[in-house]
Amino acid sequence: MSKRKLNRRQSWRIKKIQEERAERAAQKEAKAQQELASGDLGPEQLGLVIAHYGTQVAVEALDQDGQPFPDHPVSRCHMRANLGSLVTGDKVVWREGESHGVIVAVTDRSSELSRPDPYGDMKIVAANIDRIVIVIAPYPEPHENLVDRYLVAAETLDIKPIILLNKTDRIDNSNRDRLAQMETQYTELGYEWLNVSTISHQGCDDLIDYLSHYTSVFVGQSGVGKSSLINMLLPEANLKVGELSELRQKGTHTTTTAQLFHFPHGGHLIDSPGIREFGLWHMDKQALLEGFVEFRPFLGHCKFRDCAHEKEPGCAILAALERGDISESRMGSFQYILNTLEQP
Ligand code: GDP
Ligand code: ZN
Repeated sequence: MSKRKLNRRQSWRIKKIQEERAERAAQKEAKAQQELASGDLGPEQLGLVIAHYGTQVAVEALDQDGQPFPDHPVSRCHMRANLGSLVTGDKVVWREGESHGVIVAVTDRSSELSRPDPYGDMKIVAANIDRIVIVIAPYPEPHENLVDRYLVAAETLDIKPIILLNKTDRIDNSNRDRLAQMETQYTELGYEWLNVSTISHQGCDDLIDYLSHYTSVFVGQSGVGKSSLINMLLPEANLKVGELSELRQKGTHTTTTAQLFHFPHGGHLIDSPGIREFGLWHMDKQALLEGFVEFRPFLGHCKFRDCAHEKEPGCAILAALERGDISESRMGSFQYILNTLEQP
C-alpha cells in the first residue's frame, strides 16, 4: 500500500496538533512542579482515578489495602507529564495538596478499554476493568451476531465478558425457547449468564453479589435497560454525578469522559456514553477469528494458509462446523460480521 502524501493543509494541521500537544504537556508538568515545589503536599498515598478532565484527574484516596474509604473523599490532581495519559480506573500514587494534589506514579494496568477517536485512532478510555457485562433483553429482540460482536471485542481486549439477560418479566411463550437456547449455547462456550429484571427484581441479589467482586462496564444495544439497571444498582449515582460536575466546573473547560462509581455492596462500575457503545467498531479479520473462542483450536490448521474458511478444501474451520464442534449459529455470526467488515 502506498502512503498518500499529505497536502499542505493536512501537514499544517498535524504540525499544529503536535505543537498543542507539546504545549499541554509542558503546562501539565509546570503545574505539577509548582504544586510539588510549594511544599505543603501530604505524604504519598494510594488512589484511584474516578474521572478525567483534560489536564486534571479526580482521584479518590484508597486505604493501605487499596480499598476505598467509606466516605469516598475526592481530590483534583495534576499529573507529572512523564506519566503518560491517565484514564478512569487507573490506580496511582499521589500526594494531597491544598487546592490540587499531584500524581507521582501510576501502577501497571490489568486491562485497557480503548475505542476509536474521531480520527479513527484507538484511544484508551478506561483501565483495570475485570468484566464487560453484555446486556440483552427479550425486547428489543437479541441478535446473536450482535452478542457475538460484543463477545469478540471483549475477547480481543482479554477482558472477561458476561451475558446479562434483563427484563425476565417479559419472557413468554413467544420467546422462552429461543432465550433458553441462547443461554445453553453461550454457557456451553464457557460464558457466564445471569438473569435479572429491574421491574420484578428477580435475580437482583445474584447480580449485586456478582458485581461486588469486580470493576465492570455495561454494554449493549439501546433499549435493553442499561440505564434502568444502573439506576437500580447505584441509587446514589446522581449525587455523585453532581459532585463530579462541580469538580469539573472548578477545573478546566474539558469534557467528561468515563466515570467510576462504587456499588453500595462492593465492586465498581465505569460508565460513559462512549463505553456503552463499546465493540461496535471496526476490527480486523484475524482478531475476529480469534474472538470466536471455539475457533481457536482450528486456526492455522487449514490446508491453505490464506484460507477464507468459505468453501476451500481442507478447511479446518469448515470441518469443525461439519462435525458440530462449531455451531451453525456462531459460524453464521462470523460470516455476517466479516461481511460488515469487508464493506467499504
Ligand atoms: P438503555 O437504552 O439500555 O439504557 O435502556 P433503558 O434503561 O432506557 O430502558 C429501556 C426501556 O426498557 C425503558 O422503557 C425501561 O423502563 C424498560 N425496562 C428496563 N428494565 C426493564 C425490565 O426489567 N423489565 C421491563 N419490562 N422493562 C424494563
Ligand atoms: Zn479454513
